[in-house]
Amino acid sequence: MIVVLFGPPGSGKGTQAQTVASRLGVPHVATGDILRAEVASGSELGREAEPIMRSGHLVSDDLMVRIIEQRLRQPDARNGALLDGFPRTVPQAQALDAMLTRGGRAVGVVLALRVGDDELRRRVQHRAEVEGRTDDTMTAFDERLRTYASETAPVLDYYRSRGTRIAEVDGVGGVDEVTERITAALAPDGAGASR
Ligand code: AMP
Repeated sequence: MIVVLFGPPGSGKGTQAQTVASRLGVPHVATGDILRAEVASGSELGREAEPIMRSGHLVSDDLMVRIIEQRLRQPDARNGALLDGFPRTVPQAQALDAMLTRGGRAVGVVLALRVGDDELRRRVQHRAEVEGRTDDTMTAFDERLRTYASETAPVLDYYRSRGTRIAEVDGVGGVDEVTERITAALAPDGAGASR
């Protein structure tokens, strides 16, 4: 079962991912976490990715596809994975489909978390105030929202056009409440699921 966890920055993907992945019995594969680990290790890849990530832009499709291909080849991903933060562009989604098709697999469901822009900015503003670096953070966040709208939102239309199952979930509410909505939506006849 390959599940794509989809949603704008700040929609709570990371917060939900661990619980959802363990309920599904698959590893949580977060490309942002993989990149941050590379940055922390000071690898060449990390040094290349760090300024791009800081600016709110996207790391190249080519690099991301190579990272995900390598990760999905690991034994723990044999029965599937919960992908968080990938694919983020239509070319990444196409490359993922091609890669999965080669292995006789496919994306089973796209789980799309819905949170409006105003609520997203409120969440990030709150987080930034707690961390005490509001301006920098908000500028980068606005750039990430723009990148999401132009590069990432079209990925959902891509899956829709391919007839991939899309489960849309309201991402506003308590953490547990959203987890339960996700679990319901992931059931085969899931509430809120749509094509
Ligand atoms: P995230 O933790 O998913 O928000 O990712 C943090 C940053 O890593 C993003 O703002 C991008 O710069 C980069 N990144 C993560 N995943 C991808 C991806 N699939 N494609 C391109 N860049 C990515």
